[in-house]
Amino acid sequence: MARQQLAHDINTGMKAKILLVEDEVAIREMLRYTLAREDFEVIEAGDASEGERLIREQRPDLVLLDWMLPGLSGVELARRIRRAERTRQLPIIMLTARSEEENRIQGLEEGADDYVTKPFSPRELLARIRALLRRSRGDTGARPLEARGLSLDPASHRVTVNGAELQLGPTEYRLLHFFMTHPERVFSRNQLLDQVWGDNVYIEERTIDVHIRRLRKALEPGGHDRLIQTVRGAGYRFSTQV
Ligand code: CA
Repeated sequence: MARQQLAHDINTGMKAKILLVEDEVAIREMLRYTLAREDFEVIEAGDASEGERLIREQRPDLVLLDWMLPGLSGVELARRIRRAERTRQLPIIMLTARSEEENRIQGLEEGADDYVTKPFSPRELLARIRALLRRSRGDTGARPLEARGLSLDPASHRVTVNGAELQLGPTEYRLLHFFMTHPERVFSRNQLLDQVWGDNVYIEERTIDVHIRRLRKALEPGGHDRLIQTVRGAGYRFSTQV
């Protein structure tokens, strides 16, 4: 039952559509099988330009993006996805064979929401896909939240400052939503992981700092980055008392 709900869009009842951008046929086949078995709709591309075309034409709900691709790299495609207005909020999970932390952090800096390192277990990947879909959909029907001219509307997923829309990735949106519904309280990185990313997913605490940095950058134009405060030795706090 829970599995059904997560593979299908909560609002429309449609299957979640996942775009797989991967040049290695064997990995693609394994992933196609794994995802289809879990009732996801799968579309595939063998390189980044094909992936870009499918994003435009098919509007997937999430992209599994290999880092090393012939021609345009996965990281470059992630950058393009984030730059384009229409796809700015498209959730991305990077597939990487590189296990060095620097590369993984670079993937996140370029716009990926999460990553898995090859070889990965299908189970781990599925947990990450579900967690990311859950936080990119957020909840609908709730009232808009407001703090010092910064407004977040859960129904439309829009974040605005005096009517002007800010562009946030799905993870930053979810993070801000959590902060705005829990103001004036300090949360450790670990608590934020549990609350925003959900359990069953192992994520390094450093990942939080990357998303906090991205969120602050998005909030900078109106000066609202100051509302996301670092509390030394404790974690982060959303406060309007600045
Ligand atoms: Ca590859």
